[in-house]
Amino acid sequence: MGRIKSLPKETIKKIAAGEVILRPASVVKELIENSLDAEAKKITVELRGGGRDLIRVIDDGVGMSRTDCRLSISRYATSKLSSIAELSSLKTFGFRGEALAAVASVSKLKIETNDQPNSLGTFLYAEGGEIKEIREVARSVGTTVSVNSLFYNLPVRRGFLKSANYELRLIMEVMKNYALIFPEVTFSLKNEDEVVFIWPKANGIKERLSTLLAKRVFESLVEFKFENPLLSFSGFLSRPETAKPSYEISAIFFNRRPVKNRVVSKAIIDGYGGTLRGNNPNYLVFLTTDPKNLDVNIHPTKLEVRFFDEKFLFDFVSEAVRKTVGGEKREEVSLDSFLNQGKIFSEERPFTFWQLHNSFIFAQVAGGYCVIDQHAASERIIYEDILKSEKREVVQPLLFPIILELTPEEFSVYEEVKEELSLFGIETKEFGPKTILVSAIPFNSHLGEESLKELFQEILKMERKGEGYREELAKAVACKGAIKSGVRLSQVEMESLINKLFACDLPYFCPHGRPVVLKFNLEDLVRKFGR
Ligand code: ADP
Ligand code: MG
Repeated sequence: MGRIKSLPKETIKKIAAGEVILRPASVVKELIENSLDAEAKKITVELRGGGRDLIRVIDDGVGMSRTDCRLSISRYATSKLSSIAELSSLKTFGFRGEALAAVASVSKLKIETNDQPNSLGTFLYAEGGEIKEIREVARSVGTTVSVNSLFYNLPVRRGFLKSANYELRLIMEVMKNYALIFPEVTFSLKNEDEVVFIWPKANGIKERLSTLLAKRVFESLVEFKFENPLLSFSGFLSRPETAKPSYEISAIFFNRRPVKNRVVSKAIIDGYGGTLRGNNPNYLVFLTTDPKNLDVNIHPTKLEVRFFDEKFLFDFVSEAVRKTVGGEKREEVSLDSFLNQGKIFSEERPFTFWQLHNSFIFAQVAGGYCVIDQHAASERIIYEDILKSEKREVVQPLLFPIILELTPEEFSVYEEVKEELSLFGIETKEFGPKTILVSAIPFNSHLGEESLKELFQEILKMERKGEGYREELAKAVACKGAIKSGVRLSQVEMESLINKLFACDLPYFCPHGRPVVLKFNLEDLVRKFGR
């Protein structure tokens, strides 16, 4: 064996490029993303030899100055990110500043671009990443990138490219993904000078879908939307009876990026239940969440994302699919079905309740344990109760009515809201000047003299009009009437609280959007103990 040598710089560059750019479709993906980042409204892709001989992307975006054009093909040059801290909140596709550099290093690349109307633009030509020519050129505002002879300097890789038709199919798939999330952009594709398709700008995703999909497939779709404070999940699912062994579309977008995510794809199939009979559904789904909840694997060719709570993601998605197109709806949303997906508990006794610092309830569930915030849980239960139920059902008459003396401000607020409060189950009567008598409180709530006073103080601070007002009022009633932190609960009380919580529509969040239940896997514990 010879002695160990460092690889020449050029070789390293080519290897790195090979990781980003696997085939013509990856070039198209990067170039389209750049055009979209540049706010293009029209993107045209032209190919020769399925992209092996030529890939050209023409856009009408903001274009580049001469300096930027020169910089754009050097590694880690990007206009989109100035610090790593911005990474998680990124709104554009690009941020690594290496795509164009990578493409340039394995091709003969031409850029024509202009960022100023009524002035000349820039022409740049590079081979293997080395600039051979840069000069002025006449071009309207926008950018054209032409990639010639992909992998001309990596013959083995070039040899691995498949037939022109196969590469063309992959490119169409890539374009379809972006066309779906950017219906306002016109996309077209030409192959060997022949128009393959033109997808004119559409008025929303639905209209775009009707252009992209076969009529039969489009007509089988059901639109849906589910939201909770952590995650919004919307899109289109095909009716199960129309499922075939092959599908036309199965696309998942997280925050407007096409991604791979096995938890979501498995949850979708799970939601259909047995209704598919081994066939595949068509689906197009959009998940939106705060970027801080996502772990983005910045492996450049396929974007993989991990949601911070995969168990929750699975349950939420499959339940939503089940509600939209699935078979039998689960009869009752119990702790069992929510936390264990219907699996049988491994233990004889399902939950062992234990209260930590009189504030948090620990419960053992299959595969781990969960921790429930007693105050938040109680808030959620009261909130749903008072917003949903008819007046009579939610009332809890008080054996000893509470007499409240109010300040003049509190009293005038009281007069404003007393009818609304009575619909929520707080029944009152005037009892002398500035004094009221509370004879009933909402079911499940724990309102007393002090918390009622606090409630009026809270209402005083609210903007008592507009759309969200009723909900704000309900939140305040729920919050003040909820079990407080620091209150000791018996086994029976804990069990009842948890049962009521999981009968709620959104058991995972308090009305303010904070989490109510956290789940922990046994596996993690085992790993942490190094077993
Ligand atoms: P990134 O997209 O990660 O920033 P790229 O290597 O893909 O990195 O692009 C480098 C830079 O070149 C971009 O940040 C952008 O400023 C510029 N650029 C590339 N393509 C275009 C385009 N079509 N229109 C305008 N600017 C572009
Ligand atoms: Mg880019």
